[in-house]
Amino acid sequence: SFRDELGAYIAKPETYGPDVVVYHNDDFVAIHDMFPKSSLHLLLLPRDQTKTRLHPFDAFDDTEFLEKVKAETRTLRKLAAGELRRKYGKDSAQEQARQAALSADPPPDELPQGRDWEEDIVVGVHAVPSMNHLHVHVLSVDRYSERLKHRKHYNSFSTPFFVPIEDFPLAEDDVRRYPTEEGYLKRDFTCWRCGRGFGNRFAELKQHLEQEFKEWKKL
Ligand code: 5GP
Ligand code: ZN
Repeated sequence: SFRDELGAYIAKPETYGPDVVVYHNDDFVAIHDMFPKSSLHLLLLPRDQTKTRLHPFDAFDDTEFLEKVKAETRTLRKLAAGELRRKYGKDSAQEQARQAALSADPPPDELPQGRDWEEDIVVGVHAVPSMNHLHVHVLSVDRYSERLKHRKHYNSFSTPFFVPIEDFPLAEDDVRRYPTEEGYLKRDFTCWRCGRGFGNRFAELKQHLEQEFKEWKKL
């Protein structure tokens, strides 16, 4: 089934090019999502055979394993932030200010920080994954992609259906353990950036996401 297709990356990561597999080690494989829902969308696949078939909520009940996954997502978040800096650094006002200060003669005593792109990366899992092998999404916040084609694509990353890795371990009675899946995915659209509501008007949301994307990368 297509639901098993992430298994191939775990089994033989070395057979893929760098455009597919970002890196791999004994415990993890990081890949590019084939149908990205943001301008940068990676997946972290733990290779532990005792976990890979588990639902993330069950897998992450093992706190030792959870800490290992969290540590790896910190590494991948940094890597993803570096990728955003390469992609959008020249567009960003914060980065331009830093570069300008650096090249001033003499440079000022206090340099502007530059942009912390890690703040623009979200990391988490879906309450009801569609793919069978355990995977963690690591993506830029923009939700700007031509592959974002369906209303559920947007809401699966923009409602409590998306559970940030920082929220684990989940409390026993956390409502997200018992997702009213239909509820989350069918909710009215809310812009991730400005909070504006779009009802169920997907085309309008998509146009707005393009606007927000352009402004976001120029922050
Ligand atoms: P889920 O909804 O299960 O949390 O997300 C699964 C993710 O896997 C989706 O974002 C989807 O685009 C991605 N995906 C599905 N099939 C493949 C594939 O064959 N290769 C890669 N690299 N990603 C895939
Ligand atoms: Zn907005």
